[in-house]
Amino acid sequence: MSDNIIVIKGPRELELMRASGKVTAAARSLGREMTAPGVTTRDIDREIRRFIKKSGAEPSFLGYGGFPCSACVSLNDEVIHGVPGRRRVREGDIVSIDVGAFMNGFHGDCAGTFPAGGISEEAKRLIAVTRQSFFAGLKFAREGYRVSDISHAIQDYVEGFGYSLVREYVGHGVGKALHEAPEVPNFGKPGHGPRLVRGMTLAIEPMVNMGGAAVRVLDNDWTVVTVDGSLSAHYENTILITDGEPEILTVPEDL
Ligand code: MG
Repeated sequence: MSDNIIVIKGPRELELMRASGKVTAAARSLGREMTAPGVTTRDIDREIRRFIKKSGAEPSFLGYGGFPCSACVSLNDEVIHGVPGRRRVREGDIVSIDVGAFMNGFHGDCAGTFPAGGISEEAKRLIAVTRQSFFAGLKFAREGYRVSDISHAIQDYVEGFGYSLVREYVGHGVGKALHEAPEVPNFGKPGHGPRLVRGMTLAIEPMVNMGGAAVRVLDNDWTVVTVDGSLSAHYENTILITDGEPEILTVPEDL
């Protein structure tokens, strides 16, 4: 698949993407339910893998670029691409879980950040603002706008709270490939990038740091952390551009 061609999906493909999206969203819900003090990140990964397979799908992330697990589980100052392992979640942690499911030839991709037991008021606010910034961007996920109108709305919303947006990693088209064109940054001036048309399917995924925007990759070559050690949250859904309201294909349970 060419890297810069935006693939427009027709009705039949969209039915399949809805099915993949449903499994992906349910896998995220399972991750949310499992998030509690004492659980290991490996436990969360294992149950998500079992659930996706039981649903007749394959975990999109397993083996993708060599990623060793089915879910990315990123704690606290970890932004994305946390590699599940023996680490135990502790009371007060915030846990970002990113999942993908591939079924009938199409991927779904979604993420969320969840509290382990009681968390600080500051952490609660970071999670809420990150989630809400997705919806701020979604208002511009309509025909007639351009990709960076989404980006700008997310940035405007998040920076209003004094938080910062990660720039090195961005949202993306999603479909037969997990990462398709176009890129969907979480920052930028409005009115730029491809024009949105019905049939585009996009993963919109703000990554929000409580402190500075700078991130680095740990020695495992995967896990992205904030340079200043501040908390980071992530929220993502796969969405469809229609001739009216955008449709969320990975419908979150709290919508
Ligand atoms: Mg994604």
